[in-house]
Amino acid sequence: MTVTADPGSYDLDALRSRVLPHDEGAVDDSIPSLAAADPRLCAIALALPDGTVRGSSHSDTAFTMQSSVKPFLFALALLDTDGDALHRVGIEPTGEAFDAIKLESGTGRPPNPMVNAGALLTASLVDGDDGKARSNRILQGLSAFAGRPLEIDERTAEEEREHGERNHALAHLMRAEDTLHVTADDAVEVYGRACAVLVDVEALAVMGATLALGGVNPVTRERVLPASVARDVVSVMATCGVYDGSGTWMRRVGVPAKSSVSGAVVLAAPRTLGAAVLSPPLDDQGTSVRGRIASEVLSDDLGLHVFAT
Ligand code: GLU
Repeated sequence: MTVTADPGSYDLDALRSRVLPHDEGAVDDSIPSLAAADPRLCAIALALPDGTVRGSSHSDTAFTMQSSVKPFLFALALLDTDGDALHRVGIEPTGEAFDAIKLESGTGRPPNPMVNAGALLTASLVDGDDGKARSNRILQGLSAFAGRPLEIDERTAEEEREHGERNHALAHLMRAEDTLHVTADDAVEVYGRACAVLVDVEALAVMGATLALGGVNPVTRERVLPASVARDVVSVMATCGVYDGSGTWMRRVGVPAKSSVSGAVVLAAPRTLGAAVLSPPLDDQGTSVRGRIASEVLSDDLGLHVFAT
């Protein structure tokens, strides 16, 4: 019989040492600040329902959220539109890359909120009269998930702006389909700034825990969003969070998660905990190699697989 370890005393540095020798994968080179990341970097954190946050060594290393921001943008869009965002974006997996230039056939909506088209749209649905106000609202909303004030890395935001051709293409396509109601420039700017929000694995684990625990931040005890919204977001993470690798991820790890090009992975284990792993080298599907392996081991050791009996 498998013995399930206690997350409160689980040895995160031993897990880190176990995954470190895996040096496969490549660091994303889409923008200079991501390309400069140290490929040996690895950090892991857990956030538990009693508000305990536990990190391995290097868990205070800051990195930009990139696509790990997408579940939280979806959450904020659902919150600020009273659920209407659910009708504005699909929720079906695409089986394609994160930046595929493709919308849902028949509706012209983005396929789901976990790919770039969807996140460009959800970021545009957050409250605010203009891009600046929406970006501020996003930063304030993400800070509530993290339980502390977050900041934007302006250099990364600038690089996102300069290198966002595919995001511009997606935004223009949605304008043509009449599904995006802000300008393409505005949508790309606000989404790019959200990708450039700085966190560390401890903050990201708390954000994951807030989703996993029905919308209540376990550290601040603040209800950040209704349980029904948290449930919708976690459901879509489960089916679409790891792009075209989501099926394999659910079978093997069995924990709703979101990957990102910075090498961050955020996990929301329903009713149990939030976790985050950072390690920049990515596999072919854009998921952190060590992030995937650490998540598999964590899931096995802590008994996190949602379908395990
Ligand atoms: N900023 C990246 C983009 O929009 C995020 C993609 C990712 O992390 O998967 O292209």
